[in-house]
Amino acid sequence: MLKPETRRPIIGVSQCLLGDAVRYDGRSKANIIVTRQLSRIFDLVAVCPEVEAGLSVPRPPVQLTGDINNPELTGRDDPSINITALMQEYCNTKPAELKHLSGFIFKSRSPSCALNSAPVVIEGRCANETRNGMFAQAMKDHHPDMPVIEDTCLTDKSIDNFIRAVKNYSR
Ligand code: SF4
Repeated sequence: MLKPETRRPIIGVSQCLLGDAVRYDGRSKANIIVTRQLSRIFDLVAVCPEVEAGLSVPRPPVQLTGDINNPELTGRDDPSINITALMQEYCNTKPAELKHLSGFIFKSRSPSCALNSAPVVIEGRCANETRNGMFAQAMKDHHPDMPVIEDTCLTDKSIDNFIRAVKNYSR
């Protein structure tokens, strides 16, 4: 869907990639391809699922654990922390609010935002497989045709393909 006043497609971005200090360690992961290149083409909507779900900055880091197909979100350093229900509640409503987006750039390896690159820890060891972060999975379930990409895949050819896909999706 195009915003009539700008005619630019709107895409979501994991907020730390925009240079906002929202990560668990109080830092950002600014990505200059997003901030300098793609920001000239698209309107960017910042989304940090962990902060929007109610977590603080900084906060104890979490990781996917337990079951590769249905993992929980538990504390990396403190296993007594479990934010699975909190994040699921957020994921039940947020994707529908983002139906105006025409694409999404996710942060790699994040238990919330990764696209098939989030490690899953099972019985104290990383599983061979990786998977989508909990919010990224919810977005893919709700918007299966929306173009999505991870920061680590923003290479020249992939960027061109992503830009083309977003423009087609927004028509
Ligand atoms: S990876 Fe996602 S949840 Fe983590 S800080 Fe970035 S936007 Fe927030």
